[in-house]
Amino acid sequence: MAAGYEAVFSKEDILFRFQSTLCDWFDKSGKDYPWRQTSDPYAILVSELMLQQTQIATVLGRGYYGRWMAQFGNWEALAQAKEEDILKAWEGLGYYNRARNLQKTAIRICDDYGGVCPRDTESLERLPGVGRYTAGAVASFAFGVQAPIVDGNVARVLSRLFDYRKPVDTAFGQNFLWATAARMTPGERVRSYNSAIMELGQQVCTKGVPDCGECPVAIWCLSKGNEGLEALPLKKAKVAITKKSESVIILTHEGRVFLERESGRRRNGLWKLPEIPSSETEDLEELMSFDYAITRFKVTLKVFELPSAIRGKFAADREGKWYNFNDEASLPPLGSPYRKAIQKYQNIRNDLG
Ligand code: SF4
Repeated sequence: MAAGYEAVFSKEDILFRFQSTLCDWFDKSGKDYPWRQTSDPYAILVSELMLQQTQIATVLGRGYYGRWMAQFGNWEALAQAKEEDILKAWEGLGYYNRARNLQKTAIRICDDYGGVCPRDTESLERLPGVGRYTAGAVASFAFGVQAPIVDGNVARVLSRLFDYRKPVDTAFGQNFLWATAARMTPGERVRSYNSAIMELGQQVCTKGVPDCGECPVAIWCLSKGNEGLEALPLKKAKVAITKKSESVIILTHEGRVFLERESGRRRNGLWKLPEIPSSETEDLEELMSFDYAITRFKVTLKVFELPSAIRGKFAADREGKWYNFNDEASLPPLGSPYRKAIQKYQNIRNDLG
């Protein structure tokens, strides 16, 4: 921490002042979200998993969190729900394993813990889909356990506070962050502190140029005003994005669309438009194409229509089902790109009258 303080205050005093200042700032300026108004571990875990790869604006603004909590309000309700209903409620958020893991966790808590969520991070980390950060978040937010958390925001704040100039996405860098977070997380006001350090990264110590003039803990920051501050935290060189294309058929009949089950771990349980090898698309009419991103791939989805003479045979040869595409509720859980393709197709049809 800043030179000069140690001459007057002990390290513990400085740390206490830092923690108190940050918590006081959060109590005044922190945003109010539904999961910050509860200490229910279930509600907190739902929010944490939803927010893992999705923006708050989507989770709240588009009603996902509220709808989920209304439909599956506790461990028991989620444990007993049908997978299809769960995937449907998650539809549009992507990364569907988060939803499946939430249900597996609910089942485990009902079966192994009598419906009572464990408080300690070791037990929490053994639950499906719960990593070190999520375990720390649930333990501290729901139970007030002195557990550190490190997410992207916290990593940025800590890197800048300590002017840490090594990559944080290495084992060494992660050790630094977690050990530092553990040293700095207080026993008292832990819920406030963990929320505050994340909020500081969201509101003030933002990606790119931080707003150091508004920072409540600027006097303790070792990188404030230093060259290269905007680039912190440092990361290893990025994995290259690979481009690929995917060809699918949109086959409709009397207001219904032909869909097939997805296979593969990531999208198991979801449905899609039937895929065909690109070598078989030469004579087909391309209706539309657009890009979507998944993990390290940028995929160009090409949507084709079949000549009417072979549509019946195509459907008969494949294992799929017909669904009414005018009735949103009757569609099975669909991957976002295929839902988008169906909506675009409907728009094209409407435009043609
Ligand atoms: Fe971040 Fe600036 Fe605050 Fe340091 S002073 S923690 S760089 S906002």
